[in-house]
Amino acid sequence: MLKIADRIAQLGTETAFAVSGEAAVFAQAGNKVYPFHLGDINLPTPGTVIEGSMKAIQDGKTGYCPNTGIPQLREVLAEDINAARGTHYTMENIAIQPGGKPTIGKFIMALMNPGDEVLYPNPGYPIYESQIEFHGGVAVPYTYCEGKDNFEFDMDALEKSITSKTRLLILNDLQNPMGAECNDAEFGRLAELVLQHDLYVLCDEAYFDMRYEGKSKSFASMPGLEERCVILYTFSKKFAMTGWRLGASVGPKEIIEVIAKINVNDESCSNHFIQYGAIAGLTGDQTEVKAILQTLKDRRDAAVDILNSIDGITCFRPNATFYLFPNVTGLMQRKAIDDYESLRKTVLHETGVSFCTRLHFGRPLPDEKTFYIRLAYSGIDLDQIAEGLGKFKNWAA
Ligand code: PLP
Repeated sequence: MLKIADRIAQLGTETAFAVSGEAAVFAQAGNKVYPFHLGDINLPTPGTVIEGSMKAIQDGKTGYCPNTGIPQLREVLAEDINAARGTHYTMENIAIQPGGKPTIGKFIMALMNPGDEVLYPNPGYPIYESQIEFHGGVAVPYTYCEGKDNFEFDMDALEKSITSKTRLLILNDLQNPMGAECNDAEFGRLAELVLQHDLYVLCDEAYFDMRYEGKSKSFASMPGLEERCVILYTFSKKFAMTGWRLGASVGPKEIIEVIAKINVNDESCSNHFIQYGAIAGLTGDQTEVKAILQTLKDRRDAAVDILNSIDGITCFRPNATFYLFPNVTGLMQRKAIDDYESLRKTVLHETGVSFCTRLHFGRPLPDEKTFYIRLAYSGIDLDQIAEGLGKFKNWAA
Protein backbone atom coordinates (compact mmCIF):
# COMPACT_ATOMS: atom_id res chain seq x y z
CA MET A 1 0.00 0.00 0.00
CA LEU A 2 1.30 3.45 -0.90
CA LYS A 3 2.27 5.35 2.22
CA ILE A 4 3.32 8.97 1.85
CA ALA A 5 6.06 9.97 4.31
CA ASP A 6 4.78 11.43 7.59
CA ARG A 7 6.76 14.64 7.20
CA ILE A 8 4.64 15.66 4.19
CA ALA A 9 1.75 16.33 6.57
CA GLN A 10 3.75 19.36 7.76
CA LEU A 11 4.13 20.81 4.28
CA GLY A 12 1.79 23.69 3.44
CA THR A 13 1.02 25.16 0.04
CA GLU A 14 -0.09 28.31 -1.74
CA THR A 15 -3.85 27.99 -1.65
CA ALA A 16 -4.05 30.95 -4.07
CA PHE A 17 -3.35 28.40 -6.82
CA ALA A 18 -6.66 26.70 -5.96
CA VAL A 19 -8.40 30.04 -6.56
CA SER A 20 -6.75 30.17 -10.01
CA GLY A 21 -8.02 26.66 -10.71
CA GLU A 22 -11.55 27.64 -9.70
CA ALA A 23 -11.43 30.77 -11.86
CA ALA A 24 -10.17 28.70 -14.81
CA VAL A 25 -13.08 26.24 -14.46
CA PHE A 26 -15.52 29.17 -14.31
CA ALA A 27 -13.95 30.69 -17.44
CA GLN A 28 -14.03 27.35 -19.33
CA ALA A 29 -17.77 27.23 -18.71
CA GLY A 30 -18.01 30.34 -20.90
CA ASN A 31 -17.95 33.01 -18.19
CA LYS A 32 -15.90 36.18 -18.22
CA VAL A 33 -13.26 36.26 -15.46
CA TYR A 34 -11.38 39.31 -14.15
CA PRO A 35 -8.17 37.80 -12.72
CA PHE A 36 -7.15 39.66 -9.58
CA HIS A 37 -6.15 36.46 -7.75
CA LEU A 38 -2.61 35.58 -8.79
CA GLY A 39 0.51 37.73 -8.53
CA ASP A 40 1.62 36.81 -12.02
CA ILE A 41 2.51 39.49 -14.56
CA ASN A 42 0.79 39.73 -17.96
CA LEU A 43 3.50 41.99 -19.42
CA PRO A 44 6.34 40.82 -21.68
CA THR A 45 9.87 40.24 -20.41
CA PRO A 46 12.15 43.07 -21.66
CA GLY A 47 13.84 42.45 -25.02
CA THR A 48 17.28 42.85 -23.45
CA VAL A 49 16.71 39.72 -21.34
CA ILE A 50 15.21 37.74 -24.20
CA GLU A 51 18.02 38.64 -26.64
CA GLY A 52 20.74 37.99 -24.03
CA SER A 53 19.28 34.56 -23.29
CA MET A 54 18.81 33.65 -26.98
CA LYS A 55 22.38 34.60 -27.76
CA ALA A 56 23.59 32.46 -24.86
CA ILE A 57 21.67 29.47 -26.21
CA GLN A 58 23.21 30.02 -29.65
CA ASP A 59 26.63 30.33 -28.02
CA GLY A 60 26.14 26.91 -26.46
CA LYS A 61 25.58 27.94 -22.82
CA THR A 62 23.35 24.93 -22.42
CA GLY A 63 25.35 22.70 -20.11
CA TYR A 64 25.67 22.79 -16.33
CA CYS A 65 27.19 25.89 -14.78
CA PRO A 66 28.60 26.45 -11.25
CA ASN A 67 26.17 25.68 -8.42
CA THR A 68 26.46 29.29 -7.22
CA GLY A 69 25.73 30.69 -10.68
CA ILE A 70 28.03 32.12 -13.36
CA PRO A 71 30.65 34.48 -11.88
CA GLN A 72 29.80 37.27 -14.36
CA LEU A 73 26.19 37.45 -13.12
CA ARG A 74 27.21 37.24 -9.47
CA GLU A 75 29.57 40.19 -9.98
CA VAL A 76 27.05 42.33 -11.85
CA LEU A 77 24.30 41.50 -9.36
CA ALA A 78 26.49 42.36 -6.36
CA GLU A 79 27.21 45.77 -7.92
CA ASP A 80 23.54 46.35 -8.71
CA ILE A 81 22.40 45.36 -5.21
CA ASN A 82 25.07 47.53 -3.56
CA ALA A 83 24.16 50.54 -5.71
CA ALA A 84 20.49 50.28 -4.79
CA ARG A 85 20.97 49.37 -1.11
CA GLY A 86 24.27 50.83 0.04
CA THR A 87 25.55 47.36 0.98
CA HIS A 88 29.04 45.90 0.49
CA TYR A 89 28.50 42.54 -1.19
CA THR A 90 30.90 40.82 -3.58
CA MET A 91 30.21 37.77 -5.73
CA GLU A 92 31.19 35.57 -2.74
CA ASN A 93 28.00 36.74 -1.06
CA ILE A 94 25.73 35.54 -3.85
CA ALA A 95 24.27 32.14 -4.74
CA ILE A 96 22.05 32.25 -7.83
CA GLN A 97 18.73 30.42 -7.43
CA PRO A 98 15.92 29.17 -9.65
CA GLY A 99 13.62 32.02 -8.54
CA GLY A 100 13.17 33.99 -5.35
CA LYS A 101 11.18 31.33 -3.52
CA PRO A 102 13.99 28.74 -3.03
CA THR A 103 15.83 31.16 -0.73
CA ILE A 104 13.05 30.80 1.87
CA GLY A 105 13.47 27.06 2.47
CA LYS A 106 17.25 27.14 2.05
CA PHE A 107 17.65 29.97 4.59
CA ILE A 108 15.53 28.02 7.07
CA MET A 109 17.42 24.76 6.43
CA ALA A 110 20.75 26.53 6.85
CA LEU A 111 19.97 28.29 10.16
CA MET A 112 17.03 26.73 11.98
CA ASN A 113 17.13 23.65 14.19
CA PRO A 114 13.96 21.70 15.04
CA GLY A 115 12.20 23.44 17.93
CA ASP A 116 13.63 26.87 17.13
CA GLU A 117 11.09 29.68 16.94
CA VAL A 118 10.82 31.81 13.82
CA LEU A 119 8.97 35.12 13.67
CA TYR A 120 7.05 35.51 10.41
CA PRO A 121 4.45 37.94 9.03
CA ASN A 122 0.81 36.86 9.09
CA PRO A 123 -1.07 37.75 6.92
CA GLY A 124 1.96 36.98 4.77
CA TYR A 125 3.40 34.86 2.00
CA PRO A 126 2.17 31.35 2.95
CA ILE A 127 5.42 29.59 2.11
CA TYR A 128 7.09 30.94 5.29
CA GLU A 129 4.68 29.05 7.57
CA SER A 130 4.95 25.96 5.37
CA GLN A 131 8.76 25.83 5.31
CA ILE A 132 9.24 26.62 9.00
CA GLU A 133 6.90 23.81 10.05
CA PHE A 134 8.14 21.35 7.42
CA HIS A 135 11.64 21.68 8.84
CA GLY A 136 10.43 21.21 12.42
CA GLY A 137 10.46 24.81 13.59
CA VAL A 138 7.82 26.74 15.49
CA ALA A 139 6.15 29.41 13.36
CA VAL A 140 5.41 32.46 15.54
CA PRO A 141 3.25 35.03 13.73
CA TYR A 142 3.54 38.80 13.95
CA THR A 143 1.11 41.12 12.26
CA TYR A 144 0.39 44.62 10.95
CA CYS A 145 -2.50 46.92 11.81
CA GLU A 146 -4.19 49.74 9.94
CA GLY A 147 -2.39 53.08 10.27
CA LYS A 148 -3.21 56.43 8.68
CA ASP A 149 -1.88 55.85 5.16
CA ASN A 150 -0.92 52.18 5.20
CA PHE A 151 -0.59 49.08 7.38
CA GLU A 152 1.94 49.41 10.20
CA PHE A 153 4.04 46.95 12.17
CA ASP A 154 2.46 45.76 15.42
CA MET A 155 5.82 46.26 17.13
CA ASP A 156 4.60 45.71 20.71
CA ALA A 157 3.14 42.33 19.83
CA LEU A 158 6.31 41.35 17.95
CA GLU A 159 8.51 42.26 20.93
CA LYS A 160 6.33 40.23 23.28
CA SER A 161 6.63 37.19 20.98
CA ILE A 162 10.42 36.99 21.31
CA THR A 163 11.57 34.22 23.65
CA SER A 164 14.87 32.50 24.43
CA LYS A 165 14.04 30.07 21.60
CA THR A 166 13.58 32.73 18.92
CA ARG A 167 16.30 32.29 16.33
CA LEU A 168 15.08 33.82 13.07
CA LEU A 169 13.02 36.75 11.84
CA ILE A 170 11.40 36.75 8.42
CA LEU A 171 10.89 40.30 7.22
CA ASN A 172 9.01 40.98 3.99
CA ASP A 173 9.26 44.75 3.86
CA LEU A 174 7.11 45.90 0.91
CA GLN A 175 4.83 43.16 1.93
CA ASN A 176 2.65 40.66 0.13
CA PRO A 177 -0.36 40.80 0.63
CA MET A 178 -0.69 44.07 2.59
CA GLY A 179 1.69 46.39 0.73
CA ALA A 180 3.05 47.42 4.16
CA GLU A 181 6.48 49.03 4.52
CA CYS A 182 8.58 49.94 7.54
CA ASN A 183 9.52 53.53 8.31
CA ASP A 184 12.98 54.44 9.65
CA ALA A 185 11.87 54.25 13.29
CA GLU A 186 10.49 50.73 12.79
CA PHE A 187 13.67 49.60 11.02
CA GLY A 188 15.67 51.09 13.90
CA ARG A 189 13.67 49.30 16.59
CA LEU A 190 13.75 46.03 14.66
CA ALA A 191 17.52 46.32 14.26
CA GLU A 192 17.90 46.78 18.04
CA LEU A 193 15.80 43.69 18.69
CA VAL A 194 17.74 41.62 16.16
CA LEU A 195 21.08 42.52 17.72
CA GLN A 196 19.86 42.23 21.31
CA HIS A 197 18.37 38.76 20.77
CA ASP A 198 21.06 37.46 18.39
CA LEU A 199 18.60 36.81 15.56
CA TYR A 200 19.26 36.11 11.88
CA VAL A 201 16.97 37.66 9.32
CA LEU A 202 15.52 36.65 5.98
CA CYS A 203 14.89 39.91 4.12
CA ASP A 204 12.37 38.93 1.48
CA GLU A 205 12.92 41.78 -0.97
CA ALA A 206 10.82 40.34 -3.80
CA TYR A 207 9.19 43.77 -4.30
CA PHE A 208 12.20 46.02 -3.63
CA ASP A 209 12.14 47.36 -7.21
CA MET A 210 8.36 47.44 -7.58
CA ARG A 211 8.10 50.90 -6.11
CA TYR A 212 6.10 53.81 -7.48
CA GLU A 213 6.89 56.56 -4.96
CA GLY A 214 9.82 57.11 -2.58
CA LYS A 215 12.91 54.93 -2.33
CA SER A 216 13.21 51.34 -1.13
CA LYS A 217 15.52 50.68 1.79
CA SER A 218 17.06 47.34 2.70
CA PHE A 219 17.05 46.18 6.31
CA ALA A 220 20.41 44.55 5.51
CA SER A 221 21.94 48.02 5.07
CA MET A 222 21.34 48.95 8.73
CA PRO A 223 24.54 49.13 10.83
CA GLY A 224 25.76 45.68 11.87
CA LEU A 225 23.06 43.82 9.98
CA GLU A 226 24.75 42.82 6.73
CA GLU A 227 26.33 39.95 8.74
CA ARG A 228 22.89 38.82 9.98
CA CYS A 229 20.67 39.13 6.93
CA VAL A 230 20.09 37.00 3.87
CA ILE A 231 18.33 38.88 1.09
CA LEU A 232 15.85 37.05 -1.13
CA TYR A 233 16.46 38.63 -4.53
CA THR A 234 14.34 37.82 -7.57
CA PHE A 235 14.26 38.68 -11.27
CA SER A 236 10.59 37.62 -11.41
CA LYS A 237 8.91 40.93 -10.74
CA LYS A 238 11.18 43.74 -11.97
CA PHE A 239 11.86 42.01 -15.29
CA ALA A 240 8.43 40.32 -15.62
CA MET A 241 10.19 36.94 -15.52
CA THR A 242 7.98 34.89 -13.19
CA GLY A 243 8.09 31.81 -15.42
CA TRP A 244 11.80 32.01 -16.24
CA ARG A 245 12.73 31.17 -12.64
CA LEU A 246 15.77 33.18 -11.65
CA GLY A 247 16.72 34.80 -8.36
CA ALA A 248 19.47 34.82 -5.75
CA SER A 249 20.31 34.37 -2.08
CA VAL A 250 22.52 37.25 -0.93
CA GLY A 251 24.19 37.27 2.46
CA PRO A 252 27.19 36.43 4.66
CA LYS A 253 29.71 34.18 2.92
CA GLU A 254 29.41 31.39 5.53
CA ILE A 255 25.64 31.15 5.05
CA ILE A 256 25.89 31.42 1.26
CA GLU A 257 28.34 28.49 1.24
CA VAL A 258 25.75 26.35 3.05
CA ILE A 259 23.01 27.47 0.67
CA ALA A 260 25.29 26.66 -2.29
CA LYS A 261 25.75 23.15 -0.88
CA ILE A 262 21.96 22.80 -0.73
CA ASN A 263 21.88 23.95 -4.38
CA VAL A 264 24.14 21.03 -5.31
CA ASN A 265 21.78 18.64 -3.58
CA ASP A 266 18.60 20.16 -5.03
CA GLU A 267 18.90 21.50 -8.57
CA SER A 268 22.69 21.33 -9.22
CA CYS A 269 22.60 24.81 -10.75
CA SER A 270 20.10 27.37 -11.99
CA ASN A 271 19.34 27.63 -15.69
CA HIS A 272 22.61 28.47 -17.41
CA PHE A 273 21.64 30.58 -20.42
CA ILE A 274 19.03 32.69 -18.60
CA GLN A 275 21.84 34.00 -16.41
CA TYR A 276 23.31 35.73 -19.47
CA GLY A 277 19.88 37.21 -20.16
CA ALA A 278 19.81 38.49 -16.58
CA ILE A 279 23.17 40.23 -17.06
CA ALA A 280 21.80 41.90 -20.19
CA GLY A 281 18.68 42.91 -18.26
CA LEU A 282 20.66 44.45 -15.41
CA THR A 283 23.23 46.25 -17.54
CA GLY A 284 21.26 47.06 -20.71
CA ASP A 285 18.71 49.71 -21.63
CA GLN A 286 16.13 50.17 -18.83
CA THR A 287 13.31 51.66 -20.94
CA GLU A 288 11.16 48.53 -20.89
CA VAL A 289 11.81 47.92 -17.18
CA LYS A 290 10.59 51.44 -16.39
CA ALA A 291 7.55 50.95 -18.63
CA ILE A 292 6.54 47.86 -16.62
CA LEU A 293 6.56 49.96 -13.46
CA GLN A 294 4.56 52.79 -15.04
CA THR A 295 1.92 50.36 -16.31
CA LEU A 296 1.56 48.85 -12.85
CA LYS A 297 1.30 52.28 -11.24
CA ASP A 298 -1.55 53.27 -13.57
CA ARG A 299 -3.32 50.03 -12.71
CA ARG A 300 -2.84 50.60 -8.99
CA ASP A 301 -4.37 54.07 -9.16
CA ALA A 302 -7.37 52.94 -11.20
CA ALA A 303 -8.08 50.00 -8.88
CA VAL A 304 -7.67 51.97 -5.65
CA ASP A 305 -9.96 54.75 -6.87
CA ILE A 306 -12.76 52.37 -7.79
CA LEU A 307 -12.42 50.29 -4.62
CA ASN A 308 -12.60 53.38 -2.41
CA SER A 309 -15.77 54.48 -4.20
CA ILE A 310 -17.56 51.31 -3.05
CA ASP A 311 -19.70 51.67 0.06
CA GLY A 312 -18.23 49.44 2.78
CA ILE A 313 -14.68 49.18 1.36
CA THR A 314 -11.57 51.14 2.35
CA CYS A 315 -8.29 50.62 0.55
CA PHE A 316 -4.79 52.04 1.08
CA ARG A 317 -2.66 53.10 -1.88
CA PRO A 318 0.68 51.34 -1.14
CA ASN A 319 3.84 52.90 -2.60
CA ALA A 320 5.14 49.50 -3.63
CA THR A 321 4.24 45.89 -4.58
CA PHE A 322 1.36 45.13 -6.96
CA TYR A 323 -1.18 44.14 -4.35
CA LEU A 324 -4.11 45.81 -2.63
CA PHE A 325 -5.53 44.59 0.67
CA PRO A 326 -8.85 46.40 1.10
CA ASN A 327 -10.88 46.22 4.28
CA VAL A 328 -14.27 44.79 3.25
CA THR A 329 -15.82 44.47 6.72
CA GLY A 330 -18.52 47.08 6.03
CA LEU A 331 -19.42 45.52 2.70
CA MET A 332 -19.79 42.08 4.24
CA GLN A 333 -22.02 43.44 7.00
CA ARG A 334 -24.20 45.24 4.47
CA LYS A 335 -24.51 42.09 2.37
CA ALA A 336 -25.01 39.87 5.45
CA ILE A 337 -22.09 37.66 4.41
CA ASP A 338 -20.10 36.44 7.37
CA ASP A 339 -17.38 34.24 5.91
CA TYR A 340 -14.60 34.75 3.42
CA GLU A 341 -15.32 31.86 1.11
CA SER A 342 -18.98 32.89 0.65
CA LEU A 343 -17.87 36.40 -0.28
CA ARG A 344 -15.20 35.19 -2.70
CA LYS A 345 -17.39 32.62 -4.44
CA THR A 346 -20.46 34.88 -4.62
CA VAL A 347 -18.47 37.73 -6.18
CA LEU A 348 -16.80 35.34 -8.65
CA HIS A 349 -20.10 33.79 -9.74
CA GLU A 350 -22.09 37.02 -9.88
CA THR A 351 -19.49 39.36 -11.38
CA GLY A 352 -16.55 37.28 -12.66
CA VAL A 353 -14.16 39.18 -10.37
CA SER A 354 -11.71 36.67 -8.90
CA PHE A 355 -9.59 37.55 -5.86
CA CYS A 356 -7.94 35.95 -2.87
CA THR A 357 -8.89 36.65 0.71
CA ARG A 358 -6.98 36.90 3.94
CA LEU A 359 -7.42 33.12 4.30
CA HIS A 360 -4.84 32.54 1.56
CA PHE A 361 -2.06 34.27 3.51
CA GLY A 362 -1.34 32.18 6.59
CA ARG A 363 -3.50 30.71 9.34
CA PRO A 364 -5.86 33.41 10.64
CA LEU A 365 -4.92 34.76 14.09
CA PRO A 366 -7.32 34.15 17.00
CA ASP A 367 -8.72 37.65 17.52
CA GLU A 368 -9.20 38.99 13.99
CA LYS A 369 -12.30 41.17 13.71
CA THR A 370 -11.82 42.84 10.34
CA PHE A 371 -12.14 41.22 6.95
CA TYR A 372 -9.71 41.76 4.07
CA ILE A 373 -9.43 40.59 0.49
CA ARG A 374 -6.33 40.70 -1.69
CA LEU A 375 -6.32 41.94 -5.24
CA ALA A 376 -3.27 41.61 -7.48
CA TYR A 377 -3.26 44.03 -10.42
CA SER A 378 -0.17 42.63 -12.15
CA GLY A 379 -2.10 40.22 -14.36
CA ILE A 380 -5.00 42.36 -15.57
CA ASP A 381 -5.09 45.28 -18.02
CA LEU A 382 -6.36 48.75 -17.17
CA ASP A 383 -9.62 48.48 -19.16
CA GLN A 384 -10.37 45.12 -17.54
CA ILE A 385 -9.70 46.56 -14.08
CA ALA A 386 -12.25 49.30 -14.78
CA GLU A 387 -14.79 46.88 -16.24
CA GLY A 388 -14.38 44.19 -13.57
CA LEU A 389 -14.32 46.46 -10.55
CA GLY A 390 -17.23 48.39 -12.10
CA LYS A 391 -19.24 45.15 -12.00
CA PHE A 392 -18.08 44.52 -8.44
CA LYS A 393 -19.25 48.01 -7.51
CA ASN A 394 -22.69 47.43 -9.06
CA TRP A 395 -22.98 44.14 -7.22
CA ALA A 396 -21.97 45.84 -3.98
CA ALA A 397 -24.62 48.52 -4.51
N1 PLP B 1 8.36 36.36 -1.73
C1 PLP B 1 7.18 36.97 -1.84
C2 PLP B 1 6.71 37.85 -0.74
C3 PLP B 1 6.38 36.78 -2.97
O1 PLP B 1 5.20 37.37 -3.05
C4 PLP B 1 6.85 35.92 -3.99
C5 PLP B 1 6.04 35.65 -5.18
O2 PLP B 1 4.89 35.97 -5.30
C6 PLP B 1 8.11 35.32 -3.82
C7 PLP B 1 8.84 35.56 -2.68
C8 PLP B 1 8.69 34.36 -4.82
O3 PLP B 1 8.78 34.85 -6.08
P1 PLP B 1 9.60 34.09 -7.21
O4 PLP B 1 9.93 32.74 -6.74
O5 PLP B 1 8.72 34.09 -8.42
O6 PLP B 1 10.80 34.90 -7.43
